[in-house]
Amino acid sequence: MKAAVIDQKNSIHVKEVPMPVLNDGEALIRVHYCGICGSDLHVLHGEHPTAEFPVVPGHEFVGELVEARGRGAGAFQKGDLVVAQPFFSCGNCEPCAKGHDNVCRDLHFMGAHCDGAFAEYVKVATRKMYKIPKDMDQELAALTEPVAVAVHDVRRSGLQAGETALIIGGGPIGMLIAMVARHAGARKVVISEINEFRCQFAQKHGFETVNPTAPDFDARMQELTEGKGFDVSFEVSGSRPGIAAAVQYTTIGGMVMVIGMTKEPYPVDLSAMFAKELRMQGVRIHAQYNFIGAVELLKSGALNDEFRTLVSKVYPFDQVEDAFQFVQTPGDYFKVLVKMK
Ligand SMILES: [Zn+2]
Ligand SMILES: [Zn+2]
Repeated sequence: MKAAVIDQKNSIHVKEVPMPVLNDGEALIRVHYCGICGSDLHVLHGEHPTAEFPVVPGHEFVGELVEARGRGAGAFQKGDLVVAQPFFSCGNCEPCAKGHDNVCRDLHFMGAHCDGAFAEYVKVATRKMYKIPKDMDQELAALTEPVAVAVHDVRRSGLQAGETALIIGGGPIGMLIAMVARHAGARKVVISEINEFRCQFAQKHGFETVNPTAPDFDARMQELTEGKGFDVSFEVSGSRPGIAAAVQYTTIGGMVMVIGMTKEPYPVDLSAMFAKELRMQGVRIHAQYNFIGAVELLKSGALNDEFRTLVSKVYPFDQVEDAFQFVQTPGDYFKVLVKMK
């Protein structure tokens, strides 16, 4: 089969590779669409701390079931349209036993530690696979994984109806969190973002935006929260000023969610954490329960018109190298998908 392979740092090429070999409890999927994620670029740039080359990137996909083997296979039929949580976990370690298999001690994340979905075929764990309706818009279904990230982050934050939320970083994940947070009942969602295109996009969706580099940034933040700060801050930028702003502008007793991948250990103002009795929660990938939440949310259609606007460009598979080139240059876009079939 054909696959896009990262064979070394900054090198991705379409190659002929062997078909995945199924073990018991695994399923083979013919990939239809796969989205490019920032973490695929981390792998490509050699910045992912634990990824190994060569590897096929891609973990945001939808496709058609070809074969499911062993346990769990009975719930599916060949030809089903499916999405899947893109990792394998051991099921045996303490985190797995506690229900946190997204932080399994032996986690194999697709596109980093094992082959992902920028290929004609990909294998997944059957117990992490979910059917979606055959008539569902597949470009939208390819967003299931990032939507699951947003569902996980909002649920883990404990955000309550009527509360306020600050999103630091208005990229695809930041926008999805904003949409899900508002749907969950946040009365005010503010997005902090430098990029003008992203700010205008957010405003079109009815979110207030602030530019953290503007001279009146602090005054705007005070004004937006009547000087009180936000109930929950979602730090998605993975930047030093981002984490500082999250701690500074979260209200007394509020929650700081750490979502963006940071390159180095950034300092945190512990005196503010202490004085405001803040809580801080790191989040990684998503719990399976929240992936189910994303599948159901997409099936309900409640936010599909909003989600749909995040798909900026779709490349055919024979231009996958161009697609990766495109997302490495700054520009006015959110999600870039590759049509694999
Ligand atoms: Zn992703
Ligand atoms: Zn485990």
